[in-house]
Amino acid sequence: MTEKTSSGQLLGLTARWTASVRARESARADRLFEDPWAEALTGKEGAEWLARRPEDSTLPMAIRARFFDDFLLDISRRHAIRQVVLMASGLDTRAFRLDWPAGACLFELDQPEVLQYKEQVLHAAGARPTCQRQLVEADLTCPWQEKLTQSGFDPQIPSLWLLEGFLFYLSNESVTQVIDGVTNLAASASWMGLDIINSAMLTSTWTRPWVEMQASMGAPWIGTLDAPQEFLARRGWLATLTQAGASDANYGRWRLPVLPVMAPDMPHNWFVIAQKQ
Ligand code: SAM
Repeated sequence: MTEKTSSGQLLGLTARWTASVRARESARADRLFEDPWAEALTGKEGAEWLARRPEDSTLPMAIRARFFDDFLLDISRRHAIRQVVLMASGLDTRAFRLDWPAGACLFELDQPEVLQYKEQVLHAAGARPTCQRQLVEADLTCPWQEKLTQSGFDPQIPSLWLLEGFLFYLSNESVTQVIDGVTNLAASASWMGLDIINSAMLTSTWTRPWVEMQASMGAPWIGTLDAPQEFLARRGWLATLTQAGASDANYGRWRLPVLPVMAPDMPHNWFVIAQKQ
């Protein structure tokens, strides 16, 4: 993940960035979560990236991590769902740092080099998972469903899915394909969490510096949905939206003005929670 420059490697580097944000958050006295392995996973590349990012600019990512921590634990406990699928899990350590209900199995899908790097670091650190765990090496823009079912996922029973920090790296066509793939494997009463940007995010003067940074680092944001609730409703999902700073995704840490969750022509990075009907 360090010296090669294919687009897969560059996308793999983004996993170091999110790990670096979790490391910085974990060091705060008022941290929203604690990820004891994030610093080791961040490595030099992640640390260099983080050093150039003011903390305000990465707060939405820390809030997003806490928001989806709560979502995963709440749904798995309240609805007794034991199959949890982390799509593009990257260097996510939720299988190690969250208090999963008995019988929970996490399926982590990502590029081979990302998962292999994570295993090396976690193994060296002596990390122990708090649930069952299956790693599934896959390019998620190619057919991946069979790999998941072959690793023990059962599409006949409800499941819980997370697509975090991922969809904006895909073309809109691939966003649709990935969500259709999830929809096909998610039994009725399954749940899904995801975050997605709208198209105004790519053009707004407010967000241009971040969008240009992503492109200049070789990992441009391209995938958008302007009406995620309608998009998901057409696929049988009932969805709610929120965003960093809203009353349910704030945690007392958001200091900027809060936009309405659905402000036309304004940039949004929505946190979406949906249940399959
Ligand atoms: N979900 C993790 C988190 O929040 O920390 C990782 C987010 S990271 C910004 C994006 C992840 O998407 C990377 O781990 C990258 O390898 C993965 N990714 C991007 N495109 C992918 C693809 N086509 N197939 C598999 N993984 C992909």
